[in-house]
Amino acid sequence: MKIYYEKDVNMDVLKDKTVAVIGYGSQGMAQSRNMADSGLDVIVGLRKDGDSWETAISHDMPVMTVEEASKEADVIHVLIPDEIQAQVYEKSIKDGLKEGNTLSFSHGYNIHFQYINPPKKVNVTMIAPKGPGSTVRQQYLDGFGVPGLVAVEQDYTGDALQVALAMGQGSGLTRAGVLETTFKEETETDLFGEQVVLCGGATELIKAGFETLVEAGYQPEVAYFETCHELKLIVDLIYQKGFAGMWNDVSNTAEFGGLTRRDRVITDESRKEMKKILEEIQTGKFAKEWALENQSGRPQLNRMRAIESELEIEKQGKKLRKLCGLEK
Ligand code: NAD
Ligand code: MG
Ligand code: MG
Ligand code: MG
Ligand code: MG
Repeated sequence: MKIYYEKDVNMDVLKDKTVAVIGYGSQGMAQSRNMADSGLDVIVGLRKDGDSWETAISHDMPVMTVEEASKEADVIHVLIPDEIQAQVYEKSIKDGLKEGNTLSFSHGYNIHFQYINPPKKVNVTMIAPKGPGSTVRQQYLDGFGVPGLVAVEQDYTGDALQVALAMGQGSGLTRAGVLETTFKEETETDLFGEQVVLCGGATELIKAGFETLVEAGYQPEVAYFETCHELKLIVDLIYQKGFAGMWNDVSNTAEFGGLTRRDRVITDESRKEMKKILEEIQTGKFAKEWALENQSGRPQLNRMRAIESELEIEKQGKKLRKLCGLEK
């Protein structure tokens, strides 16, 4: 595994070059401000009627349309939502690409699944912070950075990797370390992680545990604290000290009970499903399903959002977070 730090980066590759950041949301705002504060020449490309236009101006960022920014810049860093990137690329970015430019991303999705097919005459790179935009910005201001991933899909100029690393340096990522990967690996593992463990798996585990206790007649408030609130404390321990550190900090009873019961919760059948979910990602079945969902106006997502907002655990959580001063 190759990891790059500040000493491995040659910032000269971006000397006299302009970086256009397309989009000013979670990542766009953080990365463009960090790169500008690091002394890079950064412009922001946005829709004239979008909400972000005024926000970017209020941060003293040079703002122009996506078309103008793509035409003017040497590096075009696409940080708008993945599901609209292909459409915006076709309409507003593609024609501005000149020979030797770099088309850059923070997620490999559209390149890997070939929704965007760039010309041969440009570099295609990825520099992806492993953290949400607010953390990317805050860590940078604190003098550090979040770790990142770097990948090169197409190296036209011969220094595409250095261009991507210099952008990562501008965002503060090389202070923590930037791991080399490929578009394929980043895209497939990112989707797997969010579906199986981080977003899908974690919420289903919490929900199932909470509902089991409530259906058995326990108070929902107590069930909430036990199955949801406390999870953060356990995850923080694992994050800081690994499984061993967590087992050491919890009681011996929790350690024995956890170790003897956990594979009855995530069973062989669950692992088989994990493999199937991974296959759906690898074959492009998931990407196709998500593209169709978007084309038809997101009927499933809207229905699931409505159901999710009605869950008992969400109602309990809202009430309890207020009582504990965690949420206004
Ligand atoms: P986001 O949803 O926060 O981006 C919204 C912004 O996109 C808006 O503020 C607007 O400026 C712009 N935008 C929306 N529609 C537009 C249009 N039609 N034309 C022009 N601009 C438009 O996006 P994000 O979460 O920052 O994600 C950006 C990229 O970064 C994605 O590729 C994502 O996978 C990747 N990424 C995100 C995170 C994260 O934590 N959010 C982490 C790593 C990588
Ligand atoms: Mg979201
Ligand atoms: Mg993701
Ligand atoms: Mg307990
Ligand atoms: Mg212990």
